[in-house]
Parts: sequence; structure tokens; C-alpha cells
Amino acid sequence: MSQANRGVVYMGPGKVEVQAIPFPELALGKRKCEHGVILKVITTNICGSDQHMVRGRTTAPQGLVLGHEITGEVIECGRDVEFVAVGDIVSVPFNIACGRCRNCKEGKTGICLNVNPARPGAAYGYVDMGGWVGGQTEYVMVPYADFNLLKFPDRELAMDKIGDLTLLSDIFPTGFHGCVTAGVGPGSTVYIAGAGPVGLAAAVSAQLLGRPAWWSVI
Ligand SMILES: [Zn+2]
Ligand SMILES: [Zn+2]
Repeated sequence: MSQANRGVVYMGPGKVEVQAIPFPELALGKRKCEHGVILKVITTNICGSDQHMVRGRTTAPQGLVLGHEITGEVIECGRDVEFVAVGDIVSVPFNIACGRCRNCKEGKTGICLNVNPARPGAAYGYVDMGGWVGGQTEYVMVPYADFNLLKFPDRELAMDKIGDLTLLSDIFPTGFHGCVTAGVGPGSTVYIAGAGPVGLAAAVSAQLLGRPAWWSVI
């Protein structure tokens, strides 16, 4: 399959362009990526951390295709993908993880040992995070799809709520994770420094985690 694709490309401090970019292939270097899928992107977000790159505060290279908050529809699966199928609507966690290394098995998918040759941890379209092509694009490749993807069980319901569900790729779980790691539960008093999107997600998460019924199921 080969067709047109476009993406948001970092061109230097303060400058991005929507450019024609290659259609993604199920390949990693010269090897076929049978554990990956190709997604048609449905929604994506601009992260606060994208601004660090776009404003020239990092060593992001010119030509980097941005975007690590991806929600999409599976349009092609590698041979070894078992649990997602063409037509599934999925959320893509921003951290790329193999699901097989020691850190992944301990749940520390943000510091997977196998997806970035330079250091533990990788993300799509992000400086120093493995050079993966980002998802502020029309199409993107996701590796280790069985492990990485969160499939929405009902396609129609998902499309009805897609504007909310797009928060699941980074913004909401970042706030939720902060509350969980802080030990928030019923009776907690929570101070959140900063009421940006992640702060607001943390506030909602604190309310969810403060409900005894919710607390009992996790
Ligand atoms: Zn983000
Ligand atoms: Zn891993």
C-alpha cells in the first residue's frame, strides 16, 4: 500500500510546516515490522511539550515530524499482530514500549529498554526519544501494536466521544498517573500546582480516585 501522507514538520525555532511526507511502512530500518500496524489518524493533540521543541528550547532536528498524542483507525496489520484488527479505533499511548523487556514487565513502559538505542524510553515525534515519526500526520506506524494500543470496544460510541477519548493518549493518564503515584484516595486533600490541561486532568482524577466505589476496583 502506498499513498499520499502529510505531517506537521519542525523546520527550526518558531517554524513548523505541513508537508508531504512518506506513507508509513511496516518496517524498522531494513527489517519488516510484523508486530506493527498502520493507523489512519482520527484525532491528535498539540502537547505543551511540543512547544518546547517548536520554540527552539531543545535540540530537536529540523525535519522532525511532530505528534505523540494519537487516536486512529487501524488500516493495516503486520503478520504477528493478534489482538487488534483492521477497522479498530484505538488510542496510542505516547510512550512507545516493547512489552517484553524487564522495565515493561514491571509496568515502567516510559523507560522501555528496546525502543530507543540512545537511552531507555521512546515517544513518537519527540526530540531524543528514538527518532520515531510522529502522529500529527494523516497516517502513522505503531510498533508492538498488541502491547501498545488501547482498543475502543464500540466503534460508534468511540466516534461519538472521540474529542474526549483523544485525551487518553497522554493528557488524562498523565494527570491520573500523578494522582495514583501520589497515593490519592478517599479522604485525601490534594494540591495541584498549575491548572493547565494535565492539572485539570489531575483534578478530575483526584475526584475519581476519591470515590470509595472507584477506589475498590483498582
Ligand atoms: Zn503530550
Ligand atoms: Zn520494553
